[in-house]
Amino acid sequence: MIIIFSGPSGVGKSTIINELIKEHELYFSISHTTREKRHNEIEGQDYFFVTTDQFKELISEEFFIEYEKYGTDYYGTGKNQLENKNSIIVLDVEVNGATKLLNNNKHFVGIFIDIENKELIKRLKERGHDEIFIDKRMALANEQRSRINDFDYIVKNVDINTTVNNILDIICNLEES
Ligand code: 5GP
Repeated sequence: MIIIFSGPSGVGKSTIINELIKEHELYFSISHTTREKRHNEIEGQDYFFVTTDQFKELISEEFFIEYEKYGTDYYGTGKNQLENKNSIIVLDVEVNGATKLLNNNKHFVGIFIDIENKELIKRLKERGHDEIFIDKRMALANEQRSRINDFDYIVKNVDINTTVNNILDIICNLEES
């Protein structure tokens, strides 16, 4: 089973996936990106960090099942991330990549994570972004929400424990069906 998590930036997808992995056996698909590594990130665990030239080389080798330019950087999922894994595979991808994957493969399950605008603005401020950036991200969030119908489930992230339990319920139901 392949589950694609998506939703506006700042809704808490990574935290949710990290908590889910503690509760259920899951394989987290590791993407390639050209963006700078953050201080708390680990190469090969959070992402494979590559240069733009390396990323373009991988595109030409048809290495990716999907890739997108998001902001100023490229993000892509290697085909190898979805092969021969013995557990449920989870992906964290932005909405364009997610809808492409979901529309091309009816077996993929899409979960759109959302939060209230007020909370999203608070989180973006906490990440140190200025007002112009936040306005752009809010406009993008509304555009992303307009594609919600491409997803199988919509989960509002009000508090992390409830969200994780709601997703575990979804996974259990999927496993039983
Ligand atoms: P961040 O830079 O905050 O880690 O990620 C920015 C956005 O890129 C997030 O919305 C995340 O879901 C998305 N992203 C991460 N990996 C991939 C990928 O392989 N493909 C696509 N299309 N988006 C990705």
